[in-house]
Amino acid sequence: MQIRLDGKFALVTGASGGIGQAIARSLAASGAAVAFHYSSHADTAHASVAAVQGEGGRAVAVQADVADPASVQAMFDAAERALGPIDILINCAGIDGKQAPSWEIDLADWKKVIDVNLYGTFYCSQLALKSMVARKKGVILNISSVHEVIAWSGYSAYTASKAAVSMMSKTMAQEAAPFGVRVLSLAPGAIQTDINRAVWSDPEQMKDLLTKIPLGRMGKVEDIADMVTVLVSDVGGYVTGTTLFVDGGMTDYPEFAHGG
Ligand code: NAD
Repeated sequence: MQIRLDGKFALVTGASGGIGQAIARSLAASGAAVAFHYSSHADTAHASVAAVQGEGGRAVAVQADVADPASVQAMFDAAERALGPIDILINCAGIDGKQAPSWEIDLADWKKVIDVNLYGTFYCSQLALKSMVARKKGVILNISSVHEVIAWSGYSAYTASKAAVSMMSKTMAQEAAPFGVRVLSLAPGAIQTDINRAVWSDPEQMKDLLTKIPLGRMGKVEDIADMVTVLVSDVGGYVTGTTLFVDGGMTDYPEFAHGG
């Protein structure tokens, strides 16, 4: 079994740091030409591009606000001009938003999370699907979250957005399967990145978090990135219309480990 992506072009959103950057680098290491999308951190995206090019690979950095369809269109135009028609789309850009009970959250803050996580994923997927369905090949992988199934107080927009992404993926998968195009989601558990710095930099919060993870550690970005690379390669060629949970057992009801 070999996991190679030579000759494929992959666009990864949210690739200037965290999980997205690790995914983009893993895809590039497997031979894909990669567009590193960034929102605001141009420097880190360009550094990743230079690193890939230094190893003989093909890469570009592309900017967009994924919540703005015109910006997404411009990003696709730039990426496809540089690297050709898209074969792999990874929707990883996302935010968790401000923490507040649903009856207190500011409407604009709530909507912002939906705009980025759900609409952003839709805008990118729609453009990718147009191209993939016409060419009868391609794969879209959406980074959802364990919170597509686990409720999370204070984050109703985040949980709603990720549950919606899951069902949207399944529906797109059903629509696109007759054209040989796969659509799936990967749901990370707690992966150590900037998005949850407040948790892992506080010993008390970290202790509480670890009680929720049967494997007893936070995930590393590579735990997600390498699984994504497997799933979008031909090795994952029979996987579509589903979510793979990569969460150290977080969705395995750890509170039942000692009786119920
Ligand atoms: P991160 O904050 O490092 O990455 C989020 C990325 O989204 C950043 O690159 C940011 O620039 C981009 N982004 C935010 N708003 C944007 C916008 N309007 N337009 C374009 N890009 C925008 O955090 P991360 O942990 O790497 O998160 C990546 C994805 O993984 C997110 O979708 C997140 O919900 C998901 N996720 C993370 C965890 C975790 O524990 N880290 C768990 C489950 C799911």
